[in-house]
Amino acid sequence: MSIKNDRAAWLQADPGNCSSIPRALARVYRLILLGAPGVGKGTQGKRLCQGLGTCHLSTGDVFRAAKCRAAGERSPALTFALIFMRHGELVPDDTVINLVRERERCLRCHGGFLLDGFPRTVSQADALARLLDQNKVKLDAVINYELPLDQLVSRLSGRRTCAVCKAVFHASTLPPRVENVCDHCGGNLIQREDDRPEAIQVRMQAYEQSTRPLMDYYQQRGLLVNIPAAGTPDETYQATLVQLQSRTTATN
Ligand code: AMP
Repeated sequence: MSIKNDRAAWLQADPGNCSSIPRALARVYRLILLGAPGVGKGTQGKRLCQGLGTCHLSTGDVFRAAKCRAAGERSPALTFALIFMRHGELVPDDTVINLVRERERCLRCHGGFLLDGFPRTVSQADALARLLDQNKVKLDAVINYELPLDQLVSRLSGRRTCAVCKAVFHASTLPPRVENVCDHCGGNLIQREDDRPEAIQVRMQAYEQSTRPLMDYYQQRGLLVNIPAAGTPDETYQATLVQLQSRTTATN
């Protein structure tokens, strides 16, 4: 069976268009990724999903996909959310929770899931816990990537994203072969609006105030797995697999 994991069910809340039911999996994972902006959650999320066979459920991706659609094709809630996103601010809890609720069948997926960017506040975490309970689904782990603040800011401010295929480069650590041109598709490389210095500062404050408390929240529930993210993406990925494996062994 060919797998067309276009995430339409998640990105567009499209009930008739889930084509990402995976192959028979030895182990199904239901995970949350935590970590400050710039820590590399998006990169790790993609790799983990390829490796573990889960679907990558990123709320930031839902907003970015909405941004690419014409204003008339977006729901009022998504248009409202984009105003906050543009400034690097958190979208209000009710809006995000409703958006995830509209996609709750992705949480029941037999292939598991990897939530990236949600929850971001304790009230979102409580809402998620209720949703999972209602759907009789249990989380396996909450992976928390850790990196010092100066390295986070440097990763974010140098990040360049292809406007066409969304490939990610970095002005100094992963430059494209030709300046501002994507190596993969020749598209234009741009700086995301929320990677500009003013927005980075707002995002870091939002993270400290609203998201950091989630570490205690999940630690108390025995789910938190801390992983240093200062190495290469490959090193961080391998460290994540090792931790997940040792958790699986310990809980079996
Ligand atoms: P991300 O790609 O996860 O960094 O998300 C990009 C932006 O989308 C954030 O800076 C927020 O404006 C918004 N966003 C994404 N997920 C959430 C969430 N769970 N709660 C509030 N805002 C969110």
